[in-house]
Amino acid sequence: MKEYRVSVAGQWVDTSVGFNTIIDPATGNEVSRIPALTSGHVDTAVQAAQQALLDSSWATDARLRADVLLQWADRITENVDALAERLTLENGKLLGEAKFEIGNQVNVIRFNAGLARTLAGHSHSFGPDVMGVVIREPMGVVAVISPWNWPISLLVRDMAPALAAGNAVLSKPASQTAGISVEILQLLVNCDNLPEGIVSMLTGSGSSVGQVIVEHPGIDMIAFTGDGTTGKRISRDAASTVKKVALELGGKSPFVLCADADMDKAISTLARFIFTTTCGQICTAPSRLLVEASVKDEVCSRLSRKIAGLKPGPGLDPESQMGAITTREQYEKILAYIETGKKTATLVAGGNPVEGVDHSKCNFVAPAIFTDVEPDSPLVQEEIFGPVLTVQSFKTDEEAIRLANDTPFGLASGVFTQTLDRAWSLSRGIKAGTVWVNNYNRFYAETEVGGYKESGVGRMAGFEGLHEFTQTKHINFDSTV
Ligand code: NAP
Repeated sequence: MKEYRVSVAGQWVDTSVGFNTIIDPATGNEVSRIPALTSGHVDTAVQAAQQALLDSSWATDARLRADVLLQWADRITENVDALAERLTLENGKLLGEAKFEIGNQVNVIRFNAGLARTLAGHSHSFGPDVMGVVIREPMGVVAVISPWNWPISLLVRDMAPALAAGNAVLSKPASQTAGISVEILQLLVNCDNLPEGIVSMLTGSGSSVGQVIVEHPGIDMIAFTGDGTTGKRISRDAASTVKKVALELGGKSPFVLCADADMDKAISTLARFIFTTTCGQICTAPSRLLVEASVKDEVCSRLSRKIAGLKPGPGLDPESQMGAITTREQYEKILAYIETGKKTATLVAGGNPVEGVDHSKCNFVAPAIFTDVEPDSPLVQEEIFGPVLTVQSFKTDEEAIRLANDTPFGLASGVFTQTLDRAWSLSRGIKAGTVWVNNYNRFYAETEVGGYKESGVGRMAGFEGLHEFTQTKHINFDSTV
């Protein structure tokens, strides 16, 4: 059991506050104790952030920001193994995935350190004596509220550009993965020359500390990643103080598999991202297979063989092929969807309890594949966020596009075909922020991500991800007499 301390306004919060406990979802053991902060800490963090922006050169000195971000990246690099182990203990994911998640943030932070120095505006001449200059300025105090599934990726994805753009950032990490989040943030607040108060850690539950953040008049922007219901509520509550809100929400991503695709690649890619990676707890998980009717039976039987031997187990055990479901609530939610599926659709494979584990405290779920699903079934329309795949077939590409777009979501999608024209027209027809053609779940610091429809508002990563954390100001110089 590790007990954490958090830094608010440049000071380590004393241990007289209450604590929340984090349970390892693979064993049921308590692994971390996290300070449960109060509304007073939010006030202190906001005031310190506002003061730091006034007193320091953080908002105006891009080289200082780049230097701090590069130090942060170096410190993470030096600690990848220990950080990954803690991530696995709190999240339940496989250690290899945890190492990838932590290691990849170094690349994201370094990209944003470089971007900090590229922030530029534009100027216009409106006549011999009139000039307009448009500059980009930071939003001010930004709160980053992040989820537990890829907790470090999603924290860094928003914090790095927010800092690069010159904002002060208050981080509210998900409670279930707050220990590893605090470790990553400790490496940041210890960086040389980071002005005191520019970064604070606001741990505590979403319904208490999170809600206070959303309604706080001193916070200028909320960058939220999480569930759609929470996102809608945040959007509504933040409106009372007219904050900018960026929302990265859930998905129900279609994976369109054409008969002419490279089947080996398509099937292993699909199985990896819906069943084994984070046990399907990924916002972009390809949870709806749309397969060309002529190959449906073959694809279903190959997928069934693929999941038959999968071994769920603790993420630290090198023999495990799937980790644990991160929270008890999520585990029960997935099991309930599987039970609904057994009553309303055809279970093609999987769906039985994992043998030889204590289900009263270990969150292991076996994958499940359902076919004969009605298009309006909750299995098709709702985000399950687990290793559950639905299969629907199509006869024409128009039908594939119609099915792909037939949910409230529009986060991501995949298209597998070896015909260029089909790849192009399917990609243009699908309403989603990302379409991967003949691959899946590839993220790059350079390319924007975000949702169409109810999957979100705004874009993160890439150039637009940096601009999301800025606002423009037009300064007009007029020297006419
Ligand atoms: P969640 O329940 O919405 O929680 C996300 C964050 O919001 C947590 O830090 C949570 O704190 C906090 N929170 C909860 N209620 C709040 C409130 N009233 N005010 C302010 N903050 C509040 O989501 P989750 O279950 O952690 O994450 C899974 C969801 O995230 C899925 O829907 C998934 O699709 C989505 N997601 C989207 C993306 C993307 O980029 N589009 C990426 C990953 C995940 P507590 O932890 O203390 O409750």
